[in-house]
Amino acid sequence: MLNADLHCHSTFSDGMLTPELVVERAWWRGVRMLALTDHDELGGLPAARERAMRLGMQFVDGVEISANWQEETVHIVGLNIDPEHAPLAAGLARIRATRGERAQRIADGLAAAGVPDPLQGALAQAGNPGLLSRAHFARYLAALGYARDAKAVFEHWLTPGKPGYVPHEWASVAEAVAWIAGSGGTAVIAHPGRYRLDEPALQALIRQFRESGGTAIEVQSGAHSPEQARRFAGIASEHGLLASRASDFHGPRESRMDLGDLPELPPGLVPVWTNWT
Ligand code: AMP
Ligand code: MN
Ligand code: MN
Ligand code: MN
Repeated sequence: MLNADLHCHSTFSDGMLTPELVVERAWWRGVRMLALTDHDELGGLPAARERAMRLGMQFVDGVEISANWQEETVHIVGLNIDPEHAPLAAGLARIRATRGERAQRIADGLAAAGVPDPLQGALAQAGNPGLLSRAHFARYLAALGYARDAKAVFEHWLTPGKPGYVPHEWASVAEAVAWIAGSGGTAVIAHPGRYRLDEPALQALIRQFRESGGTAIEVQSGAHSPEQARRFAGIASEHGLLASRASDFHGPRESRMDLGDLPELPPGLVPVWTNWT
């Protein structure tokens, strides 16, 4: 099977490598089709595409859009999007603007709990000051020794009920899917195993996603256990969704799953890239 990896991050959002280095690393690790999917941001795509063309690797323009579903934040990946599509570009600009206000509120919560200079600290971790993510706060707090590593910082500081968590209004699922599909792209439910949704809430999410024009779901994900991959393979079949394969790589030491390291898709599923080559 083609070594496709259709979800990863660069310094344009909360990844640790530049777009060029993400592409180089993917190529040397055996990836032959790569999508860069920065959070709510398209700025890394031109440099990544150019480097991929030089290496002879297939490159897919992507994005990972933050959305609200009931009480949960969910992520919708767009693949083969048109970065020039005005509603998509405008929608992402809106989300990025509110991310700035959110970062200030996160910083206020952390400062009230005694963390020194949280906003400046997070900004120093960020390659793109216009795209602050909780991952940048996590790296700053980990560097100060507030927890063992960035993952542990999330548990103690950045998740609901903790000092650095604020609820936030992102896009709706219908909006995110419409921006992607309207630009000619394929909308994909990212890492479904990560959401705290019971079965009826997940089924309702899939229904809304499909009604809005979404067609695919991540089955193999860096965030999924083998058991979760089996579960979402079943759900993809049941709902007639195309299947994606997606490391969600952020950086060499931080990510559990490196670029292209994923198991193959289970047999019987239709890969999302089937008609792309
Ligand atoms: P944000 O979009 O600002 O809420 O940040 C979400 C990002 O934080 C995700 O894309 C991951 O990169 C990272 N993240 C979220 N939860 C965790 C976790 N439990 N451990 C490590 N990183 C996480
Ligand atoms: Mn991230
Ligand atoms: Mn995500
Ligand atoms: Mn991601």
